[in-house]
Parts: sequence; structure tokens; C-alpha cells
Amino acid sequence: MYKSCNLIKHGLCFFNNILASCCFSPVDQINGQIPPLIQDNYWGEIIPPDELFNRMDKYDKIFKEGSCPAECRNCYKIEEKDWDNERYIDQITITHFSMCNADCIYCTNNNERWERTTKTYSIIPILKYYKEQGIIRKGCEFHIGGGEFTIYRECDELLELFAINDFARVFVPTNAIKYSHNLFRAMDEATTYIIVSLDSGSRNTYKKLKRTDSFNKVIENLKKYALTQKSRDAIRLKYIIVPSYNDNMGEFKKFLKIAKKLGVQNLIIDIDARYSRMNNYKIDDYFINLAYKMNNLALKQNFITEFYCFFFHNVNEKQVKKGNFITDLITRIKFKYFDKTLKDLYTYHHYGDKRKD
Ligand code: SF4
Ligand code: SF4
Repeated sequence: MYKSCNLIKHGLCFFNNILASCCFSPVDQINGQIPPLIQDNYWGEIIPPDELFNRMDKYDKIFKEGSCPAECRNCYKIEEKDWDNERYIDQITITHFSMCNADCIYCTNNNERWERTTKTYSIIPILKYYKEQGIIRKGCEFHIGGGEFTIYRECDELLELFAINDFARVFVPTNAIKYSHNLFRAMDEATTYIIVSLDSGSRNTYKKLKRTDSFNKVIENLKKYALTQKSRDAIRLKYIIVPSYNDNMGEFKKFLKIAKKLGVQNLIIDIDARYSRMNNYKIDDYFINLAYKMNNLALKQNFITEFYCFFFHNVNEKQVKKGNFITDLITRIKFKYFDKTLKDLYTYHHYGDKRKD
């Protein structure tokens, strides 16, 4: 029994130019923290399984000795239990591409540290190799990150290799501007889920947030993704509260109407991660109350709601797991009012470039 983390032992995260165990520390890269590295300057090279696990062991060894690797400090994923010593991978994050057909104002690929780039590498050869070597477990979770997956050149092949045959459980954030039939098949025939951040219920608000006039196209594609009961259930429609853009009940009500029309039941309510990071993970009471009201209204209309918790990375795991975080944390968060500096950051997007709207 010792403190460690499943991802340090069984996780892989493919970044553009880095292979790491997870993508959790990078959230804190803003503050200078780096992820547990397996290889720096990584561009898709085949690392044999023995070598791979030897490199991963170095972090687990630190945990075994009762310490914590600097890369994992304060991470809420650390837990104490009897860890196995088997060598397998059961969670893979793919975030080595960053191109997108939208330009959301909150996109992490739009900040000063992570610029979008067409430079990437082929991930199929390495994943195919690990699958053949038997180190990727059946039922492994695949989390797609990066840019827009449906425009990524290996999207179809990856879905065929791991999703449509139900080898892995795949979680795909997509803006749904481009329809992918393979993605629909993976949702309908296997265990693949999509998360679509609509963040709005109207074309105007959508356009301001996503900086593309694709609202109608997205609704059309969502209709195709929601064609069967199984595929409908595999959709999570997301509403990211973005201060000063969509932070009102009027917009949210329109969003609910669309979800109802589509027959989508699963919703996610979130807050712009950039806002919470800049605000030291302290969320203004206005937004907490707003999320609370949104949640109540959605529940009243028989939706199922989830909250994503980017902003609770620094909060201990037990609180995050305790059901509805709003009700659990509402009493313990120290509120800070939305100050002028942050307002300016929203007006001057890209940390300096004036937002065009
Ligand atoms: S403890 Fe956190 S930072 Fe370390 S490997 Fe696990 S998820 Fe990643
Ligand atoms: S759809 Fe996703 S990747 Fe594309 S700009 Fe928006 S947040 Fe970024």
C-alpha cells in the first residue's frame, strides 16, 4: 500500500513533441509545471515496451519510496492503495495535433504558450505496435485532446483501429462543424462518446464565442450524430460559462431547448478554464450561483448534468467526487469579484490582440 497514481504506472499521453504519463500537469504548465516525461522531443518514435516501462518506473519508484515526483506535486489524482506491478497501458491521451476549424476564444491552443501548429507526427504506427505487443489493454480509455479530431488526418484510421471494433472506450471532444461517419459508427456500434461545446443557444452568441459562423451546420451535424438512441446517449452537450459572453440564463434556456429538440439528455456545465486559472481557481460567486441555477433548471427538465472541474485541480479529490460539486463546495470557496484586469483580458483576447466581434 502506498501513494501513487494510475497514470504514472499505466498512462500515456502523446503531446506534440513530448511523450508523458498524463496531461494533468500541463494544465499547470501556465504556472511552470511540466508533466511526468517519458521522452522529451518526441515525434512518434517506437519505444520498445521494456524501455517504455523502465522510463515510467522511475516516477513510481519515487512514490514507492514515500516521496512525490515534482511533476505530480499537489495532483488530485494521487491515491493510496495496493498497486499492481503489471506492465500494461489502460489510459491514452492523444493531443499531439492542434489544428482546428474553429477559433474559440477560450481555446488553450490560442494562448501564448501553446500556439497552433501544423507540425505533428503519425501516431498510428506506435499505437498499432503497442496493440500488437499486447500492452494496450482491451477496454483502455482513449481521451482525445489537441485540436479538432475530425479534421486530423488519422482520425478515421484511429477510430477503425480502436473504436469501431469496441477495443477501447473513446472520448472525443468535437466541435461538430465537420461530420464524421466513422465517429457516428463508433458511437452507435461501440463505446465512444462525444463532447460538443455548444456554449450557446443562438447563432449570434455562438459566433462570438467560436469565431466561426457555423451554428446551423453544427445543429445539422448534431442531428446526424443523434440519429439512434445509442448514439444520442453518447453525446454530451457542453455549456462553458464564459464571463461576459454567455453568462446568463436567457442563453442557457435556448441551449436547453436545442438539447431537448435533439433528444440529447447528457449535459455538461463548466466554466472557462482560463478564467479560473487566472483567478487562482477562485470562482466569483456570480458564476457559482449561475451554474447552480442552470443545474436546477436542467434537472427540472429531466436532463442529466455533469460538471467538469478544471478549476478544482488544486482541490482534493474527495470533494470533487462528492456528487454535485456546486453544493459541496459552495460553502468553502473564497469568492473574488471579477476584477478589471480579468475584464481587460476578455476584451483583449490573445493577451494583447483586440477581440474582433
Ligand atoms: S499524479 Fe497527477 S501529474 Fe502525476 S501522473 Fe498522476 S495524473 Fe499525472
Ligand atoms: S473547437 Fe476545441 S480545439 Fe477548436 S478552437 Fe474550439 S476549443 Fe480549440
